[in-house]
Amino acid sequence: MTPRRIGIPRALYFYEFHPLWGTFFRSLGHEVVFSPETTRSILAAGVKGCVHDVCLPVKTAYGHVAHLRTEVDYLFLPRMMSMRKGTYVCPKIVAFPDLVLNLMEDLPEILDPEIDLRRGKTQEKALHAAGRRLGASRGALRSAYRAATAAQGALESSLIAGSLSGLQNPVGCETGETVRPARRARSSGSRSGRTVGILGRPYTLFDGRLSFRLLERLAAAGISVLTPQTVPTPVADHQVSHLPLDLYWTLVAETVGVARHWLRESRVDGIIFLISFECGPDSLIKVLLEDELKHFPGVPYSTFLLDEHFAEAGFMTRIEAFLDVLEGAAESRGAAR
Ligand code: SF4
Repeated sequence: MTPRRIGIPRALYFYEFHPLWGTFFRSLGHEVVFSPETTRSILAAGVKGCVHDVCLPVKTAYGHVAHLRTEVDYLFLPRMMSMRKGTYVCPKIVAFPDLVLNLMEDLPEILDPEIDLRRGKTQEKALHAAGRRLGASRGALRSAYRAATAAQGALESSLIAGSLSGLQNPVGCETGETVRPARRARSSGSRSGRTVGILGRPYTLFDGRLSFRLLERLAAAGISVLTPQTVPTPVADHQVSHLPLDLYWTLVAETVGVARHWLRESRVDGIIFLISFECGPDSLIKVLLEDELKHFPGVPYSTFLLDEHFAEAGFMTRIEAFLDVLEGAAESRGAAR
Protein backbone atom coordinates (compact mmCIF):
# COMPACT_ATOMS: atom_id res chain seq x y z
CA MET A 1 0.00 0.00 0.00
CA THR A 2 1.49 3.36 -1.01
CA PRO A 3 1.64 5.86 1.85
CA ARG A 4 -0.56 8.87 1.11
CA ARG A 5 -1.05 12.32 2.59
CA ILE A 6 -4.54 12.47 4.06
CA GLY A 7 -5.88 15.94 4.80
CA ILE A 8 -8.40 16.50 7.59
CA PRO A 9 -9.77 20.03 7.95
CA ARG A 10 -9.61 21.40 11.46
CA ALA A 11 -13.27 22.31 11.58
CA LEU A 12 -16.74 20.98 12.40
CA TYR A 13 -16.55 17.41 13.75
CA PHE A 14 -12.74 17.45 13.74
CA TYR A 15 -12.78 18.66 17.35
CA GLU A 16 -14.78 15.69 18.58
CA PHE A 17 -13.19 12.96 16.48
CA HIS A 18 -9.65 13.97 15.56
CA PRO A 19 -8.01 11.18 17.63
CA LEU A 20 -10.21 8.54 15.99
CA TRP A 21 -9.70 9.78 12.45
CA GLY A 22 -6.07 10.79 12.72
CA THR A 23 -4.95 7.61 14.50
CA PHE A 24 -6.84 5.40 12.05
CA PHE A 25 -5.10 6.74 8.97
CA ARG A 26 -1.72 6.99 10.70
CA SER A 27 -2.02 3.36 11.84
CA LEU A 28 -2.54 2.37 8.22
CA GLY A 29 0.81 3.96 7.42
CA HIS A 30 -0.41 7.24 5.91
CA GLU A 31 0.63 10.76 6.76
CA VAL A 32 -2.19 12.76 8.30
CA VAL A 33 -2.22 16.49 7.69
CA PHE A 34 -4.54 18.50 9.93
CA SER A 35 -5.06 22.03 8.71
CA PRO A 36 -3.58 24.63 11.07
CA GLU A 37 -5.52 26.70 13.55
CA THR A 38 -7.96 29.02 11.86
CA THR A 39 -6.08 32.07 10.64
CA ARG A 40 -7.26 35.33 9.18
CA SER A 41 -6.49 34.07 5.68
CA ILE A 42 -8.28 30.74 6.20
CA LEU A 43 -11.33 32.57 7.46
CA ALA A 44 -11.17 35.07 4.60
CA ALA A 45 -10.93 32.24 2.04
CA GLY A 46 -13.98 30.59 3.58
CA VAL A 47 -16.04 33.77 3.66
CA LYS A 48 -15.10 34.65 0.10
CA GLY A 49 -15.41 31.22 -1.48
CA CYS A 50 -18.39 29.70 0.29
CA VAL A 51 -22.05 30.51 -0.27
CA HIS A 52 -23.21 33.46 1.83
CA ASP A 53 -26.22 32.05 3.61
CA VAL A 54 -24.41 29.55 5.82
CA CYS A 55 -23.08 29.99 9.33
CA LEU A 56 -19.56 31.06 10.25
CA PRO A 57 -18.38 27.51 11.22
CA VAL A 58 -19.28 26.18 7.77
CA LYS A 59 -17.55 29.09 6.04
CA THR A 60 -14.54 28.45 8.25
CA ALA A 61 -14.55 24.76 7.35
CA TYR A 62 -14.60 25.74 3.69
CA GLY A 63 -11.52 27.89 4.26
CA HIS A 64 -9.73 24.94 5.90
CA VAL A 65 -10.48 22.71 2.90
CA ALA A 66 -9.21 25.43 0.56
CA HIS A 67 -6.02 25.59 2.61
CA LEU A 68 -5.44 21.82 2.50
CA ARG A 69 -6.52 20.92 -0.99
CA THR A 70 -3.20 21.41 -2.77
CA GLU A 71 -1.12 19.84 0.00
CA VAL A 72 -2.64 16.39 0.20
CA ASP A 73 -3.46 13.35 -1.92
CA TYR A 74 -6.82 12.79 -0.27
CA LEU A 75 -9.25 14.85 1.76
CA PHE A 76 -11.27 13.13 4.45
CA LEU A 77 -14.74 14.72 4.43
CA PRO A 78 -17.13 12.20 5.97
CA ARG A 79 -20.80 12.64 5.27
CA MET A 80 -22.17 13.11 8.77
CA MET A 81 -25.90 12.39 8.85
CA SER A 82 -26.68 11.15 12.34
CA MET A 83 -24.17 10.87 15.17
CA ARG A 84 -26.58 9.55 17.77
CA LYS A 85 -29.64 7.37 17.48
CA GLY A 86 -32.73 9.56 17.14
CA THR A 87 -30.84 12.74 16.29
CA TYR A 88 -29.92 14.39 13.01
CA VAL A 89 -26.89 16.41 12.13
CA CYS A 90 -27.59 19.97 11.01
CA PRO A 91 -28.32 20.09 7.24
CA LYS A 92 -25.47 22.55 6.71
CA ILE A 93 -22.99 19.93 7.92
CA VAL A 94 -24.75 17.15 6.01
CA ALA A 95 -24.37 19.20 2.85
CA PHE A 96 -20.78 20.26 3.47
CA PRO A 97 -19.01 17.66 1.25
CA ASP A 98 -21.35 18.53 -1.63
CA LEU A 99 -20.80 22.22 -1.03
CA VAL A 100 -17.06 21.65 -1.43
CA LEU A 101 -17.44 19.38 -4.46
CA ASN A 102 -19.68 21.89 -6.20
CA LEU A 103 -17.86 25.11 -5.39
CA MET A 104 -14.17 24.23 -5.23
CA GLU A 105 -11.91 23.41 -8.13
CA ASP A 106 -8.69 21.39 -8.29
CA LEU A 107 -9.64 19.11 -5.43
CA PRO A 108 -7.65 16.01 -4.53
CA GLU A 109 -9.46 12.67 -4.17
CA ILE A 110 -12.24 12.91 -1.61
CA LEU A 111 -12.85 10.20 1.00
CA ASP A 112 -16.47 10.83 1.95
CA PRO A 113 -17.96 7.74 3.62
CA GLU A 114 -21.33 8.19 5.25
CA ILE A 115 -21.86 8.11 9.01
CA ASP A 116 -25.51 7.61 9.83
CA LEU A 117 -26.24 5.88 13.11
CA ARG A 118 -29.96 5.78 12.33
CA ARG A 119 -29.13 3.29 9.60
CA GLY A 120 -26.28 1.43 11.26
CA LYS A 121 -23.59 3.30 9.32
CA THR A 122 -21.08 3.64 12.11
CA GLN A 123 -17.73 5.40 12.32
CA GLU A 124 -16.10 1.97 12.09
CA LYS A 125 -17.84 1.14 8.81
CA ALA A 126 -17.07 4.60 7.44
CA LEU A 127 -13.38 4.39 8.29
CA HIS A 128 -13.13 0.85 6.93
CA ALA A 129 -14.66 2.06 3.66
CA ALA A 130 -12.15 4.91 3.47
CA GLY A 131 -9.28 2.55 4.33
CA ARG A 132 -10.37 0.06 1.66
CA ARG A 133 -10.18 2.82 -0.96
CA LEU A 134 -6.60 3.34 0.14
CA GLY A 135 -5.88 -0.35 -0.40
CA ALA A 136 -5.73 -1.56 3.23
CA SER A 137 -6.23 -5.22 4.05
CA ARG A 138 -9.01 -6.39 6.33
CA GLY A 139 -6.53 -7.17 9.13
CA ALA A 140 -4.88 -3.76 8.85
CA LEU A 141 -8.28 -2.04 8.99
CA ARG A 142 -9.24 -3.94 12.12
CA SER A 143 -6.04 -3.17 13.96
CA ALA A 144 -6.04 0.49 12.84
CA TYR A 145 -9.58 0.89 14.14
CA ARG A 146 -8.59 -0.68 17.48
CA ALA A 147 -5.78 1.87 17.84
CA ALA A 148 -8.15 4.66 16.78
CA THR A 149 -10.81 3.81 19.36
CA ALA A 150 -8.16 3.67 22.08
CA ALA A 151 -6.99 7.17 21.15
CA GLN A 152 -10.57 8.44 21.02
CA GLY A 153 -11.33 6.84 24.39
CA ALA A 154 -8.33 8.60 25.93
CA LEU A 155 -9.64 11.98 24.75
CA GLU A 156 -13.14 11.30 26.08
CA SER A 157 -11.82 10.15 29.46
CA SER A 158 -9.66 13.24 29.81
CA LEU A 159 -12.67 15.46 29.07
CA ILE A 160 -14.83 13.79 31.67
CA ALA A 161 -11.92 14.22 34.10
CA GLY A 162 -12.17 17.96 33.42
CA SER A 163 -9.21 18.50 31.08
CA LEU A 164 -9.99 20.43 27.91
CA SER A 165 -6.45 20.34 26.54
CA GLY A 166 -7.25 17.59 24.02
CA LEU A 167 -9.73 19.96 22.39
CA GLN A 168 -7.80 23.19 22.83
CA ASN A 169 -4.52 21.75 21.57
CA PRO A 170 -5.28 18.72 19.40
CA VAL A 171 -2.19 16.54 19.10
CA GLY A 172 -0.50 16.64 15.72
CA CYS A 173 -1.97 19.96 14.58
CA GLU A 174 0.33 22.24 12.73
CA THR A 175 0.09 25.67 14.20
CA GLY A 176 0.42 27.60 10.91
CA GLU A 177 0.10 31.36 11.17
CA THR A 178 -0.27 32.04 14.86
CA VAL A 179 -3.43 33.68 16.00
CA ARG A 180 -2.57 36.85 17.86
CA PRO A 181 -2.28 36.01 21.57
CA ALA A 182 -5.45 36.74 23.47
CA ARG A 183 -5.61 40.19 24.99
CA ARG A 184 -6.45 39.33 28.54
CA ALA A 185 -9.69 40.20 30.15
CA ARG A 186 -8.96 42.56 33.04
CA SER A 187 -7.73 40.42 35.90
CA SER A 188 -9.22 40.92 39.28
CA GLY A 189 -8.36 39.00 42.39
CA SER A 190 -11.98 39.02 43.50
CA ARG A 191 -12.97 37.09 40.38
CA SER A 192 -10.84 34.15 41.34
CA GLY A 193 -12.94 31.25 42.40
CA ARG A 194 -15.86 32.16 40.13
CA THR A 195 -16.97 29.57 37.61
CA VAL A 196 -18.51 30.29 34.22
CA GLY A 197 -20.19 27.68 32.04
CA ILE A 198 -19.57 28.22 28.34
CA LEU A 199 -22.12 26.71 26.00
CA GLY A 200 -21.65 26.33 22.28
CA ARG A 201 -20.60 23.88 19.64
CA PRO A 202 -17.11 22.36 19.93
CA TYR A 203 -16.08 23.83 16.58
CA THR A 204 -16.87 27.30 17.90
CA LEU A 205 -15.68 26.98 21.50
CA PHE A 206 -12.34 25.40 20.63
CA ASP A 207 -11.54 27.37 17.51
CA GLY A 208 -9.38 30.15 18.92
CA ARG A 209 -10.26 32.60 16.18
CA LEU A 210 -14.01 32.04 16.18
CA SER A 211 -14.21 32.19 19.97
CA PHE A 212 -11.60 34.95 20.34
CA ARG A 213 -9.91 32.57 22.75
CA LEU A 214 -12.68 33.07 25.26
CA LEU A 215 -11.69 30.07 27.38
CA GLU A 216 -8.11 31.30 27.72
CA ARG A 217 -9.18 34.86 28.42
CA LEU A 218 -11.45 33.76 31.25
CA ALA A 219 -8.76 31.50 32.70
CA ALA A 220 -6.32 34.43 32.55
CA ALA A 221 -8.84 36.50 34.51
CA GLY A 222 -8.91 33.90 37.27
CA ILE A 223 -12.22 32.33 36.22
CA SER A 224 -12.77 28.57 36.17
CA VAL A 225 -14.42 27.46 32.96
CA LEU A 226 -16.79 24.57 32.35
CA THR A 227 -17.86 23.43 28.90
CA PRO A 228 -20.43 20.79 27.90
CA GLN A 229 -17.70 18.27 27.11
CA THR A 230 -16.99 17.77 30.80
CA VAL A 231 -20.53 16.57 31.53
CA PRO A 232 -21.23 12.89 30.77
CA THR A 233 -23.99 12.48 28.17
CA PRO A 234 -26.31 10.39 30.43
CA VAL A 235 -26.22 13.21 33.02
CA ALA A 236 -27.26 15.77 30.40
CA ASP A 237 -29.88 13.41 28.94
CA HIS A 238 -31.44 12.86 32.34
CA GLN A 239 -31.92 16.61 32.75
CA VAL A 240 -34.07 16.91 29.63
CA SER A 241 -36.04 13.70 29.91
CA HIS A 242 -39.04 15.71 31.15
CA LEU A 243 -39.25 18.00 28.13
CA PRO A 244 -42.31 17.20 25.99
CA LEU A 245 -40.33 17.89 22.82
CA ASP A 246 -38.56 15.81 20.25
CA LEU A 247 -35.22 17.65 20.25
CA TYR A 248 -33.84 15.82 17.28
CA TRP A 249 -31.06 18.14 16.17
CA THR A 250 -27.62 17.08 17.35
CA LEU A 251 -26.48 18.80 20.54
CA VAL A 252 -29.75 20.63 21.22
CA ALA A 253 -30.96 18.31 23.98
CA GLU A 254 -27.42 17.80 25.30
CA THR A 255 -26.73 21.54 25.57
CA VAL A 256 -29.97 22.29 27.38
CA GLY A 257 -29.35 19.28 29.64
CA VAL A 258 -25.85 20.48 30.49
CA ALA A 259 -27.16 23.93 31.41
CA ARG A 260 -29.88 22.46 33.63
CA HIS A 261 -27.31 20.26 35.32
CA TRP A 262 -25.00 23.20 36.01
CA LEU A 263 -27.83 25.37 37.29
CA ARG A 264 -29.55 22.79 39.43
CA GLU A 265 -26.31 21.59 40.97
CA SER A 266 -25.06 25.18 41.48
CA ARG A 267 -21.95 24.42 39.46
CA VAL A 268 -21.69 27.83 37.78
CA ASP A 269 -21.86 31.49 38.77
CA GLY A 270 -22.78 32.52 35.23
CA ILE A 271 -23.36 31.19 31.72
CA ILE A 272 -22.17 32.40 28.32
CA PHE A 273 -23.64 30.94 25.14
CA LEU A 274 -21.72 31.34 21.88
CA ILE A 275 -24.20 31.24 19.00
CA SER A 276 -23.45 31.30 15.31
CA PHE A 277 -25.47 33.69 13.21
CA GLU A 278 -27.80 31.75 10.86
CA CYS A 279 -27.85 28.72 13.19
CA GLY A 280 -31.35 27.31 13.53
CA PRO A 281 -30.56 24.65 16.17
CA ASP A 282 -28.78 27.23 18.36
CA SER A 283 -31.84 29.50 18.19
CA LEU A 284 -33.90 26.64 19.59
CA ILE A 285 -31.38 26.06 22.39
CA LYS A 286 -31.48 29.78 23.22
CA VAL A 287 -35.26 29.74 23.72
CA LEU A 288 -35.15 26.63 25.91
CA LEU A 289 -32.21 27.96 27.87
CA GLU A 290 -33.84 31.31 28.58
CA ASP A 291 -36.91 29.47 29.78
CA GLU A 292 -34.76 27.49 32.19
CA LEU A 293 -32.84 30.54 33.38
CA LYS A 294 -36.07 32.18 34.53
CA HIS A 295 -35.81 29.87 37.54
CA PHE A 296 -32.32 31.20 38.32
CA PRO A 297 -32.59 35.00 38.17
CA GLY A 298 -29.36 35.46 40.14
CA VAL A 299 -27.21 33.70 37.53
CA PRO A 300 -25.85 36.13 34.92
CA TYR A 301 -26.29 34.96 31.36
CA SER A 302 -25.08 36.36 28.08
CA THR A 303 -25.18 35.29 24.45
CA PHE A 304 -22.56 36.21 21.88
CA LEU A 305 -23.80 36.02 18.31
CA LEU A 306 -20.81 35.23 16.11
CA ASP A 307 -20.39 36.06 12.47
CA GLU A 308 -17.54 37.20 10.28
CA HIS A 309 -18.20 40.84 11.18
CA PHE A 310 -17.89 40.39 14.92
CA ALA A 311 -14.80 42.29 16.09
CA GLU A 312 -12.40 41.48 18.90
CA ALA A 313 -12.75 44.91 20.55
CA GLY A 314 -16.51 44.56 20.86
CA PHE A 315 -16.12 41.02 22.12
CA MET A 316 -13.67 42.12 24.82
CA THR A 317 -15.96 44.92 25.96
CA ARG A 318 -18.81 42.50 26.36
CA ILE A 319 -16.65 40.03 28.27
CA GLU A 320 -15.57 42.76 30.66
CA ALA A 321 -19.20 43.80 31.16
CA PHE A 322 -20.21 40.21 31.78
CA LEU A 323 -17.47 39.73 34.36
CA ASP A 324 -18.57 42.87 36.17
CA VAL A 325 -22.16 41.61 36.27
CA LEU A 326 -20.88 38.23 37.47
CA GLU A 327 -19.02 39.90 40.29
CA GLY A 328 -22.00 42.05 41.23
CA ALA A 329 -24.28 39.00 41.32
CA ALA A 330 -21.81 37.13 43.53
CA GLU A 331 -21.62 40.07 45.95
CA SER A 332 -25.42 40.30 46.12
CA ARG A 333 -25.63 36.61 46.91
CA GLY A 334 -23.01 37.08 49.64
CA ALA A 335 -24.88 40.05 51.13
CA ALA A 336 -28.16 38.14 51.12
CA ARG A 337 -26.68 35.27 53.16
S1 SF4 B 1 -25.53 23.53 13.89
FE1 SF4 B 1 -25.53 25.74 13.58
S2 SF4 B 1 -23.39 26.35 13.80
FE2 SF4 B 1 -23.43 24.15 13.40
S3 SF4 B 1 -23.23 23.94 11.21
FE3 SF4 B 1 -25.40 23.93 11.66
S4 SF4 B 1 -26.05 26.05 11.42
FE4 SF4 B 1 -23.80 26.02 11.59
